[in-house]
Amino acid sequence: MTFRMRLATVLCLLAFAAAPAAWAASPSPRAVAITIDDLPRGGDGGPRDLASLQAMTAKLLTPFAQQQIPVIGFVNAGRFQGDEAGLRQLLNQWLDAGADLGNHSFSHPDINNTPLAQYTADITRGETPLKSVLAARGKKLAYYRHPFLHVGSTPEDKAGLAQFLARQGYTEAPVTFDNADYAWAARYVSPETRDNAAAGYVPYMESVVAFFEQRAVEVVGREFPQILLIHANQLNADQMPQLLAMFRSRGYRFVTLEEALRDPVYKTPENYVGRNGFSWLHRWSRFKGMPNKGEPDAPEWVMKGF
Ligand SMILES: [Zn+2]
Repeated sequence: MTFRMRLATVLCLLAFAAAPAAWAASPSPRAVAITIDDLPRGGDGGPRDLASLQAMTAKLLTPFAQQQIPVIGFVNAGRFQGDEAGLRQLLNQWLDAGADLGNHSFSHPDINNTPLAQYTADITRGETPLKSVLAARGKKLAYYRHPFLHVGSTPEDKAGLAQFLARQGYTEAPVTFDNADYAWAARYVSPETRDNAAAGYVPYMESVVAFFEQRAVEVVGREFPQILLIHANQLNADQMPQLLAMFRSRGYRFVTLEEALRDPVYKTPENYVGRNGFSWLHRWSRFKGMPNKGEPDAPEWVMKGF
């Protein structure tokens, strides 16, 4: 070995030895806020009695509590069929795990076919149980998530709803990592498709995350703290460790919704008025006059019927 080659080898080894320390010193540029909708349980077709809901919720929340990962759950109080005490127990499970809670309306109405006054009354109706469990911990109800990500199909509805939410003191919770986890979840509770859904779910989610990472650079010019929407269901309860591991393998750290929303990207204007619900990245790309580019679809056997 010549001196020059030896020197190169030594420098190479030094570079490798120094690299992990340098990486550890700078925080990962990637961040995600995890938001879970349709509490106490989304429409995956699984059991909805109190004991089953408690078991599903306990499993879903275990990794968040154990690893102190921030999470916020968006509640549809009217979708719980038991009594008020049962609902309070379920919501307290979330708060005990360190989660925050937001309003997702009482009964999950669609603003596309609900008069605005009726729609906003449904939001108000959903506040009562939420405010009581939050107040008991000195917390305030701060966030609203639109069912179906529908924000108003006419300019009047869109402006009227935004004004109502502002008056009530809500911050609207946008979504950037939009996906079809609910469809996978429905396949997961069905015995014929359970194994295939279990095997395909996280790889599908990773394809969606990879798409939106790239799209962030195209639309915004950089990556930024993204906001993931998933639903409270058995699939996410069973696969949460793998889902979190996927995010970690891509360099993500987990942040609160509040921290994500502090990024100025969430001040980007959007002017979409229509009947569809989709990622805020798509809304911003439309506002900027960019051609539409959709995230990867789930396979047909998953989406059938949705
Ligand atoms: Zn929902």
